[in-house]
Parts: sequence; structure tokens; C-alpha cells
Amino acid sequence: MENIHPIFDRLLTQKDKEQFLNQKAKVLWFTGLSGSGKSTIAENLEKQLFSKGYFVQVLDGDNTRTGINKNLGFSLEDRLENIRRVAEISKLFINSGIICINSFVSPTIEIRNLAKEIIGPENFIEVFINTPLEVCEARDVKGLYKKARAGEIKGFTGIDSPFEAPENPEVEILTADQTVEDSVNDVYTKIINHISLS
Ligand code: ADP
Repeated sequence: MENIHPIFDRLLTQKDKEQFLNQKAKVLWFTGLSGSGKSTIAENLEKQLFSKGYFVQVLDGDNTRTGINKNLGFSLEDRLENIRRVAEISKLFINSGIICINSFVSPTIEIRNLAKEIIGPENFIEVFINTPLEVCEARDVKGLYKKARAGEIKGFTGIDSPFEAPENPEVEILTADQTVEDSVNDVYTKIINHISLS
């Protein structure tokens, strides 16, 4: 053991990996109602950033609730555990220098604070995809609002489960009167300085 230099005992740091990838690792935490546009903006933003040389990972219900979180439902307790695990995974990505775009309803201030604490406030950018309930309901992309109104889904955020709007989000996107392209560009412009090294 004594012939190993102490530096080899340590893992490479977030900073080492950020320099390798030429970017600052951040979690862009998208919060908003179902149908507000989180996934649509996340998917397009990922492509836009990737095409500019940034290394990005989207985390959402599709790639977490089907795997690591498949034993969880939508009670407040399970939502909290869902977000806790997602936040812990994001922290590992951050340690690898990767920019995460996390697309989760994450309906309460408590839930988002938990994520922010786990990830570290310095790595966390709250992005409020602010779309009025009426607009989300009119879009009804997955037909979920119709089912919630009919009582076929219980505890649906915005209908019979609360959504607490962020009080002081770093970024707020008002999608109701914007095209998808405008919203993506809007987020891009507001976050680009946070993820660039120079
Ligand atoms: P969420 O992930 O928040 O549940 P989705 O992205 O699945 O929402 O659905 C949002 C829907 O709204 C999509 O059908 C999208 O095309 C539409 N939409 C209309 N305008 C916008 C916009 N400016 N930004 C994002 N989505 C928009």
C-alpha cells in the first residue's frame, strides 16, 4: 500500500469530468402540470444542446418509473420516494459531469426542496414550465385529465391533488402563447451561461 501515491486513492472529481466534457454539470429541474410541456421541451432541448457539443441526459417518468421506480405509485409518500431516488441518480450523473434535464411534475415545494438538497443547491436550476391548468386540460395529450375528471384516476395533480407553483424559480417558461420552438429557445437562452465553462 505504501508505494501507492495518495492521489491514486481518490476518485476523479466532478471538476475533472466537467473539464473533460468542457461543460458545467447542472440539473435543469423541470416542474409543471401534466401536459404543461416538460417532456416536449426536454426532448428538444436535449437535441439542441447535444448538437452544440453538450453532453446531456434526460430523466423522466418513462425511464425511471419503468425501471428503478417501478414499485412506486402516486401517493404523496410514493411521489416523495420517486423524487428522492431520481435526485440521488442525478447526483451521480452530476458527479460524472453530465447535464441532466429532469422532467417531473414534482408538485410540492417540499418535494422540490428535497431534490435540491440531495443534488446540492449549487447544481440545481429550477425551471417552471408554467402552463395554466385550462390549457393543459385542453391539450390533454394522454387523455389523463378526462379520466381524472371522470373519477377514473384518483389523486391527479391539478384536479384532486395539489400543485404548488415554485415561489422563486430561476427560469419560468410561459408556454400557452408560444410555439414549442420558442419555448425551447427561451430555456436555452436562460440556462446556457450556467452550463458553459468559459
Ligand atoms: P408534460 O411532459 O409536461 O406532461 P408534454 O410535453 O407531454 O407535457 O405535452 C405537452 C403538449 O403541449 C405537447 O403535445 C406539445 O406539443 C404541446 N405544446 C404546445 N405548445 C407548447 C410549448 N410552447 N411548449 C411545450 N409544449 C407545447
